[in-house]
Amino acid sequence: MTYNMKSVLYYMVMHFLRDTMRKRPSPPPMSSPDMRISRERMVREQIEARGIENSDVLHAMRTVKRHLFVTEALYARAYGESPIPIGHGQTISQPYIVALMSALLEAKPRMRVLEIGTGSGYQAAVLAAMGLTVFSVECVRELFGATRELLQHLSVRNVHMKFGDGTLGMPEAAPFERIIVTAGGHSVPPPLLEQLDDPGILVIPIGEQRRNQRLVRVVKDNGKIYIENKEAVSFVDLVGVHAW
Ligand code: SAH
Repeated sequence: MTYNMKSVLYYMVMHFLRDTMRKRPSPPPMSSPDMRISRERMVREQIEARGIENSDVLHAMRTVKRHLFVTEALYARAYGESPIPIGHGQTISQPYIVALMSALLEAKPRMRVLEIGTGSGYQAAVLAAMGLTVFSVECVRELFGATRELLQHLSVRNVHMKFGDGTLGMPEAAPFERIIVTAGGHSVPPPLLEQLDDPGILVIPIGEQRRNQRLVRVVKDNGKIYIENKEAVSFVDLVGVHAW
């Protein structure tokens, strides 16, 4: 092989790998498989088996096609127990953590929920399938654009997206009965606490060190704030004015 052919081949392989790792199908292929059986097994073995009983959460996890939120090359991993890369150094949380955070919200259909960190749109789609009205903020422009297109393509309704720093919340749509933060911060961003309704519940991974947090549930009730510590978790960074 000549040197030139080698470098052309190298170039092609590198581009293929880069595109596979970074891009999500948007829109996904027309002939995408349903993967219902994998989804059913995921719910039974990873979610119900670990004690999640909220029927709206279980229904949503059974309904939302998680594989459509990742690149086609990762479909086979979509229902496994680990987080999945979605490009730009970000990940979708493992199914159990998505279900756990959704359950900790103790939300009722038609409640208004603010999500910080839209990412792939999977958590937002799960919340929408629980019957909630979702407001979701993402700060990476490319993810914001690709996910907006994907949610439209999948006809996911009731998700209102905004590009910007989610640590500032979404004052124009506040207050929110529920708030969920899907990236790890060192403390609760004050604007989110202000934009939380009373009564209201906020769920966020908090840790003094990056990638090493505890899920924290903040309950606002009658002007008082109650903090409950839950599972140890590892989330990507929450960045922004009130974060890392
Ligand atoms: N809920 C997402 C998880 C994505 S990972 C999903 O289901 O796919 C966390 C996301 O939070 C990343 O997309 C990251 O860009 C975003 N993020 C981090 N800090 C943010 C901030 N201050 N405002 C908005 N989004 C933020």
